[in-house]
Amino acid sequence: MSILTYALHHQGDFNKNSLGAVSAAGKLAGEIGGEAAAVVVGEGDDLSDELCASLGKYGASKVYRAKAPEGLAQPVVDVMAKVIQDEGYKYALFGGGLLGFEVGAGLTARLGAGVTMEVTAVKAQDGKLIAERPILQDSAIVDVDYVGEPGIIIGRLNAFDPAESGGGDAEVVDVDVQLEDHSTKARMIQRGESGEEEVNIEEAEILVAGGRGLGKAEGFELCEELAGALGGAVAATRAVVDAGWYPYAAQIGQTGKTVAPKLYLAAGISGAIQHKVGMQNSENIVAINKDPNAPIFEFSDLGIVGDLNKILPKLTEAVKAKKG
Ligand SMILES: Cc1cc2nc3c(=O)[nH]c(=O)nc-3n(C[C@H](O)[C@H](O)[C@H](O)COP(=O)(O)OP(=O)(O)OC[C@H]3O[C@@H](n4cnc5c(N)ncnc54)[C@H](O)[C@@H]3O)c2cc1C
Repeated sequence: MSILTYALHHQGDFNKNSLGAVSAAGKLAGEIGGEAAAVVVGEGDDLSDELCASLGKYGASKVYRAKAPEGLAQPVVDVMAKVIQDEGYKYALFGGGLLGFEVGAGLTARLGAGVTMEVTAVKAQDGKLIAERPILQDSAIVDVDYVGEPGIIIGRLNAFDPAESGGGDAEVVDVDVQLEDHSTKARMIQRGESGEEEVNIEEAEILVAGGRGLGKAEGFELCEELAGALGGAVAATRAVVDAGWYPYAAQIGQTGKTVAPKLYLAAGISGAIQHKVGMQNSENIVAINKDPNAPIFEFSDLGIVGDLNKILPKLTEAVKAKKG
């Protein structure tokens, strides 16, 4: 009844979504009477006993360490498949993020397993894990049970929060894995940071937030221009972050950041509850939406019904003219 996770690391730190998955696995394993373990891979000296054992603080009782390139999916699939086959893990749980999706999907194909993606929560029921997955544009949630083993659960980005469990060091076990030929075909050229720290939306007094109504990634230029004129920063909804239109660091809401600026200007945002919870404490909320019945108008101080493509440039012009 045990759960295996994968913990991605870079320069001595574990990725936040990986720590979230380890934490969720630790908690759930306790509830189904099993144990949580994590796989870490790496080739250099950066994978010290101490770093691996530190996952115990998040609920992992065992950490499998393998010598393989880090940051690529297929080598991790090889390692996880071997650990699952040798040790009989019943579930594999992944935090969100592209690598989690890629490794989880690869592992599913390799083991002929059942998979649920975009999972927002997992619960323990009758000694089994049930994955909760939103459907129909997030308007309903289905419970997914697994009939075979292992069950692969891939979370949405930030679905699982990192939480220290009060546990001590995890046992570190070295595993020797022969990588598949195809797993060595890709090579990591360079790894870097996404530059998320450049977007400091939590401290900005003015936020211009964009949603799917912007139409495409380039639509964010309208928000950036207005934010620049106002001396504020740009924020985003999950829909556009998931679509790759804007960096995750700018996401506001239940699975993003919570903000309370003096002014929150929402352009092309419908006002879903999951977005609302991240910005409802803003001092002044101004919404631009072409749909007069958009839910965001219900909690806006000022609502403008119209096309953001016309309104945003005019606002920017007006602000610049006033400042000039
Ligand atoms: C567990 C869970 C967690 C979630 N967490 C978050 C979260 O943290 N943050 C978050 O934002 N969402 C979150 N969501 C998703 C949320 O439910 C919504 O799907 C999302 O917020 C919708 O984003 P949106 O407003 O950009 O897009 P839409 O809902 O598609 O709204 C687009 C709006 O743009 C308007 N529009 C279109 N064209 C124009 C135009 N030219 N001019 C003006 N208006 C226009 C439309 O009328 C519409 O109201 C979560 C969902 C779940 C299930």
